[in-house]
Amino acid sequence: MPVDLDVIRQLPDVVANQIAAGEVIQRPASVVKELIENSLDAGATRIVVKVQDAGKTLIEVSDNGCGMSENDARMCFERHATSKISTADDLQRIRTLGFRGEALASIAAVAQVELRTRRKEQSLGTCVVIAGGEVQKQEPVRLAEGTTLSVRNLFFNVPARRAFLKSPQTELRQIIVEFQRQAIARPDVSMELIHNDVFIFSLGPASLRQRIVHIMGGAVNEKLVPVSEKTDVLHIEGFIGKPQAAKKTRGDQFVYVNRRFVHSPYIHRAVADAYDPLLEPNTHPLFVLFLDVDPGRVDVNVHPTKQEVRFDDERMVYAFIQASVRHALARFSITPTLDFQQETAFDQLPAFSSTQSTDPTSEENKEVHSAPIYLTKQRPKHWQKLFEGMRGSQPLTVVISHPEDEEAEATPPPEEASTHSTPPYQLHRSYIISPIKSGFILIDQQAAHERILYEKYLTLINAQQPATQQQLLSQTVHFSQQDATVVQELLPDLHKLGFDIQPFGGTTFVVQGLPADLPNVPIQELLEQMIEAVKEEKVPLRIPPRERLALVLARRACLKSGQALTVKEMQELIDQLFACQSPFVTPTGRLTMITFDENDIAALFRQGRER
Ligand code: ADP
Ligand code: MG
Repeated sequence: MPVDLDVIRQLPDVVANQIAAGEVIQRPASVVKELIENSLDAGATRIVVKVQDAGKTLIEVSDNGCGMSENDARMCFERHATSKISTADDLQRIRTLGFRGEALASIAAVAQVELRTRRKEQSLGTCVVIAGGEVQKQEPVRLAEGTTLSVRNLFFNVPARRAFLKSPQTELRQIIVEFQRQAIARPDVSMELIHNDVFIFSLGPASLRQRIVHIMGGAVNEKLVPVSEKTDVLHIEGFIGKPQAAKKTRGDQFVYVNRRFVHSPYIHRAVADAYDPLLEPNTHPLFVLFLDVDPGRVDVNVHPTKQEVRFDDERMVYAFIQASVRHALARFSITPTLDFQQETAFDQLPAFSSTQSTDPTSEENKEVHSAPIYLTKQRPKHWQKLFEGMRGSQPLTVVISHPEDEEAEATPPPEEASTHSTPPYQLHRSYIISPIKSGFILIDQQAAHERILYEKYLTLINAQQPATQQQLLSQTVHFSQQDATVVQELLPDLHKLGFDIQPFGGTTFVVQGLPADLPNVPIQELLEQMIEAVKEEKVPLRIPPRERLALVLARRACLKSGQALTVKEMQELIDQLFACQSPFVTPTGRLTMITFDENDIAALFRQGRER
């Protein structure tokens, strides 16, 4: 009898879906997550989650979202059936929570499911009953618009998985965790969680701060410090906990990328590093952070549950988050009791006001939210705007204005055309104080110049033409065999930076020119530092080797603390700083400046009077 050598066969859909379910649906909490996400994607403003026996007998999610047509009510249970993307290109533009079309197919493969749904446009709705992936009934029904999905007896047909479920307390805790993650993501949506007919949460639409307080308890209110920064590519909003509120457990850490809850060790580390050294050992700060980024720059399709993400430029994200958190902490530490007053303004940001639609897919929401001026990315033209009010022009629209601003307006405009109507002032030959319309900024001159030079050198390295050089008498430099190889590799980059350096046989090189702004440095030592930096594996933030050259050079060449500056030099420095891509931080994430808001300052003094 001939042996059949072809052993591969296509799995029936039901089996394939059960396997997929293993990834997407691990426990009742996964069902809760997927169903709430679907309701949010459907534009719901009210979501009710009912659970019996920690989700083992029933999980039911009802929403007032867009509902489904008769056909869609059937289609939605097919694997890879989704209304959210249609081409591979769409993966670059994902604004919805779902897009893989796996959740409902997976759930229907391992549970008894009833879907009741109606679109607004239709007078009758549809009811579909499906169990173990087999449709058992479909009929028209009368019901309010929206969708209710009831999931009974999860894993009824996969006994091994059902046996694998943890104690009811554990499963319920997981459900609560998932519910909280979604509830924090969308404070504008009213959300309820009911377990065995008892309300666990009943949350009306609220500001983010209110929602956090509803979920974490009243005591957390005074511990929250607002975070809000933006550049052209990244936008961060949210709250961090004051250092003394840090806990031994990590429970209160929520990070969202484009409103999707994510686990990102990278982001968590950036935040934790920003706190350093303010935290007691082994304590974990509270944070609720929303990162908004062009969907094309982040890959959410890394894992079936979509809780992992990859950024195209992780270093930038790291530096940005770290700087944002530091900035918030710095503001908090200078105005320890003021963050509630700032909060008034913060809550008015469109992102968190409860009145507006916060459908993440809406055009409106993609708009950059108005934010205090120091948060806008300051190209030179923006920079001039910082001073506009001081020269008597209209207040900048992105400024959250306060009554005090109008008074500033009333002062007659100085005549000169310079951006800097009030000259900057140097403090202790290290810091520059520069008044701006809403207060003043305090710049660390060394950090600022390091940032300026770093970006300049990066541009040089990436340019076609070598930089201008300052000629010197030729000088020979010697390296170890290994370092000589590195120098050899670096020659093109070194040339672009302005080094005129040529091999001179063996491990010797001859240097005849240096970058123009590098006066009197010991050349051998400088080159050794650059080689070290390139070889070094654990350079902060995993800066790529070429950029490390720029970093070392910038650190070496930048003007140092202790150096006196003329007004003109300070003005130039400020202008150059604000022309940078990332003016607020050094290449390794230290702050270059701190903004002091006039209102905070005034409030500090008021506080003194009340004592
Ligand atoms: P995905 O969310 O990845 O698209 P799902 O399996 O979760 O995949 O859902 C499949 C489709 O069913 C969705 O794309 C959507 O069109 C529809 N759908 C699911 N839940 C709802 C809901 N609550 N309201 C309206 N439509 C829904
Ligand atoms: Mg989904």
